[in-house]
Amino acid sequence: MTATKILLDESEMPRRWYNLVADLPSPPPPVLHPGTLQPIGPDDLAPLFPMALIEQEVTRERYVDIPPEVLDVYRLWRPSPLYRAHRLEKALGTPARIYYKYEGVSPAGSHKPNTAVPQAYYNASAGIRRLTTETGAGQWGTALAFAAAQFGLECEVWQVRASYDQKPYRRMMIETFGGTIHPSPSDLTEAGRRILAEHPDSPGSLGIAISEAVEVAAQQPDTNYALGSVLNHVLLHQTIIGEEALLQLAKAGDTPDVIVGCTGGGSNFGGLAFPFLREKLAGRMSPVIRAVEPAACPSLTRGRYAYDFGDTAGMTPLMKMHTLGHDFIPDPIHAGGLRYHGMSPLISHVYELGLIEAVAKTQKECFEAGIRFARTEGIVPAPEPTHALAACVEEALRCKETGEEKVILTALCGHGHLDLPAYSRYLAGEMVDHELSQPALDASFAGLPELPAGR
Ligand SMILES: *Cc1c(COP(=O)(O)O)cnc(C)c1O
Repeated sequence: MTATKILLDESEMPRRWYNLVADLPSPPPPVLHPGTLQPIGPDDLAPLFPMALIEQEVTRERYVDIPPEVLDVYRLWRPSPLYRAHRLEKALGTPARIYYKYEGVSPAGSHKPNTAVPQAYYNASAGIRRLTTETGAGQWGTALAFAAAQFGLECEVWQVRASYDQKPYRRMMIETFGGTIHPSPSDLTEAGRRILAEHPDSPGSLGIAISEAVEVAAQQPDTNYALGSVLNHVLLHQTIIGEEALLQLAKAGDTPDVIVGCTGGGSNFGGLAFPFLREKLAGRMSPVIRAVEPAACPSLTRGRYAYDFGDTAGMTPLMKMHTLGHDFIPDPIHAGGLRYHGMSPLISHVYELGLIEAVAKTQKECFEAGIRFARTEGIVPAPEPTHALAACVEEALRCKETGEEKVILTALCGHGHLDLPAYSRYLAGEMVDHELSQPALDASFAGLPELPAGR
């Protein structure tokens, strides 16, 4: 019987990140300047990001060395464990072999520090003293506050007002790591003051919080902005997950037939899947790779592949991606990390190339899978990865019918210890599934920016 926990020694930890762009038949379409509609250059991004990250954003090199200072911090929790889900398999009665790569062992309890740490490192190396960012549910703010503390940076976080009021534990964690946190909209920025003047009781949104964090970073020379998903350099940093999982599955003597992961902006999914996609493109294995998104925010399965803004206010560059429209406000599902109107341009491109599949799941099915997982494997998953677990369970039950002994691999990208009220609502029978109507989507598509033909 395969071991339950497949571990790597510190000395076996991968020393470079993998850049999928090097192995694709074509690169993703360029990011465009919102004013000129021309491809942006490094100078356009320089007010917000250090040059090392801008270079990683556009590099065509296959591998990027992980700096020793970053490896040192990674060693606090990496290599992360790969588990064989023997108990879940038994409960399902499936002949499939299920593996999950667990990122909940990190300081923030999710995969987010994998990119927060290098982002803080490169900013500190460039002489930056302070980082600003937005956070919704609080996972990203927690990760960045921790990473900033490692490199002596200040960290200022704008948290969506509704989450700030309803989920105090993430705020406390951010403050414990030394971060400063403001509810957004705040009166500290033009963008915030404008909203507050009109709507003093605004619950805020991720879009507004991004506008506030970007405004402050753009105005102060010693301050930069950090983003926790979507961008190429973020997905690059997350490939440490898949590189480790490749080594661990080899130790277990298995190769995956199916890889599933949840997608908000696409970083944990890309981080796990891209190294396996490299192997697939090289003909060394042939897993089906499947993204799982919430039915309430289905950018891949129901969105348009079009140029759109990354934020609601329309301040960011235009990215070609699967989008529901930057005005789209998803229903308040509990998987806060998956409530984003767009998708990573790189994931979107790979989806257009037919290299990955996508499915959407409703939240009750996801929580049912999350509870089944908690009761068998002993880990309470964050609401986001319950989407991947629901797809895992579905695939495993299909194997039960057909008798196929497939190997299924998933990313358990975070624990749900600070999301227990959502479980409580599910258990009390109070959780609802939201229907997303086509007219609502069409209204939101109508707000997509117009571009010259051919873009
Ligand atoms: C932020 C977050 C997500 C969504 O972001 P991706 O970039 O799609 O990975 C998913 N799960 C957890 C636990 C998160 O913190």
